[in-house]
Amino acid sequence: MTDKANTPIAVVGLGLMGQALARAFLKAGHPTTVWNRTAAKAERLVAEGAHLAPTIGDALAAGGLTVVCLTDYPAVRELLGEAGLEGTTLVNLTSGDSGQARETAAWAEKRGARYLDGAIMAIPSSIGTEEAVILLSGPEPDFDLGALGTVSYLGEDPGLASLYDVAGLAMMWSVLNAWLQGTAMLRTAGVDAATYAPFAQQIAVGVASWLPGYAGQIDKGSFPAEVSALETDARAMAHLVEESESLGVNAELPQLIKAMADRAIAAGHGGAQYPVLIGEFERPGE
Ligand code: NAP
Repeated sequence: MTDKANTPIAVVGLGLMGQALARAFLKAGHPTTVWNRTAAKAERLVAEGAHLAPTIGDALAAGGLTVVCLTDYPAVRELLGEAGLEGTTLVNLTSGDSGQARETAAWAEKRGARYLDGAIMAIPSSIGTEEAVILLSGPEPDFDLGALGTVSYLGEDPGLASLYDVAGLAMMWSVLNAWLQGTAMLRTAGVDAATYAPFAQQIAVGVASWLPGYAGQIDKGSFPAEVSALETDARAMAHLVEESESLGVNAELPQLIKAMADRAIAAGHGGAQYPVLIGEFERPGE
């Protein structure tokens, strides 16, 4: 297969995301075949130049490459379980977890497919722009999905794309929850969310800049307190808990943050720097 825009691609699943994927392939000049359980969703794409496959088998036979984007992995297994996969190249961009990705890779490979798993860290309207991050893992691709956005190949383990995707969710919700906590606190003093947002953004960007240095400490397993010791951080965490409680806003997130630090301090890590908490994250919670 070549990396040119003339690689024929079939898109299976034309929900909000699948339609955006197919449209981006069409725009980039790929001969594009589409299939969807509810065929009416293909009408606009067909008007824009896509070829409609009458059956899932026809879709799998049409593309040099078949991109699958359904609701979830059980839907993928249900649909592809009916079809012959021998000799196909499947790129499954359906969201799920790494266990589902590895199981589906083994299942598809046993049935003769070359299977790559992927994750889309983007919304449909950004597909086709460089802001759309597409992650791939599994056998090294010899095709180019650059029409979709910024594509990163992460390695042979088919679970990696989903694992990065889910790790990214941890980042996203942690940042959003931290912002909501601060917003709830400031609203008690009449500060509106829009006033606090730029300040919060500045803090989030500043903290994000610490990550590569802190990652170095984790990878070395050595946590000298170059900036502050965990026990100093824990005192600030107590302020966060007490302030939240006295303002009458939700204190669960501050309490959790402090409880994790307290456990690490009790285990003798009070003099170490913050990333020593990786130990708390690497085992099941209490
Ligand atoms: P959606 O609009 O709900 O579309 C779901 C698609 O799955 C439809 O084409 C649906 O077919 C098909 N489907 C479901 N069960 C099926 C089955 N048993 N057999 C055959 N087809 C089946 O969802 P979406 O937004 O496109 O999302 C698709 C995937 O992309 C999800 O895994 C989602 O997490 C991921 N994703 C979405 C976004 C986003 O912003 N939308 C962002 C990142 C990742 P019918 O049309 O016939 O119902």
